[in-house]
Amino acid sequence: MSSHAGAVSQLVDRLSQLPGIGRKSAERLAFHLLRVREDEALALSDAIRRVRTDVRYCAACFNLSEKELCQICADPNRDAARLCVVEQPRDLLSLEASGAYKGLYHVLLGRIAPLDGVTPDQLTIDALVERVRTGKFSEIIMATNPTVEGDGTSLYLSNQLSEFPVEITRLARGITAGSVLEYANREIIADALTGRQKL
Ligand SMILES: [Zn+2]
Repeated sequence: MSSHAGAVSQLVDRLSQLPGIGRKSAERLAFHLLRVREDEALALSDAIRRVRTDVRYCAACFNLSEKELCQICADPNRDAARLCVVEQPRDLLSLEASGAYKGLYHVLLGRIAPLDGVTPDQLTIDALVERVRTGKFSEIIMATNPTVEGDGTSLYLSNQLSEFPVEITRLARGITAGSVLEYANREIIADALTGRQKL
């Protein structure tokens, strides 16, 4: 076997380890990358390198950011009295895309899932409690996913935050139980935000 074949099969192996990419798709992608212009193919590897070296978690909310504070935390026009708690940065993106929310966020970087070995101390819960303790929030909106684990997480959080003088609400159940924010369309998310209820 030539070394070229080795390089190709290495790329196919790497690609097929990505979520949602099977062996066949990995092969298709690899041959596509061999066919396109060299600078186009290398732009992909640059983008991967940049995302790993330049992107980090926002020091305040744990959203993805290229600076110490993310664009949302750094924006003085956001409503600093409201804090919306989400599981992942991609959930934040879904809520932002709805255009219905102008407050701040806190990204947990997961949800409490005892069966998968995810305990509260592995999430950004301490930082959240500290933010609520020192911040000037009047409302905390639980926007964890409407799954058993998401609900459990927001219940746990509302207990942790019960000593503070803030109103705790959660998204209305416009989002079907079990579905994830990531896949809900923006109208549904906007409805869920407007119709939020006391927890
Ligand atoms: Zn931030």
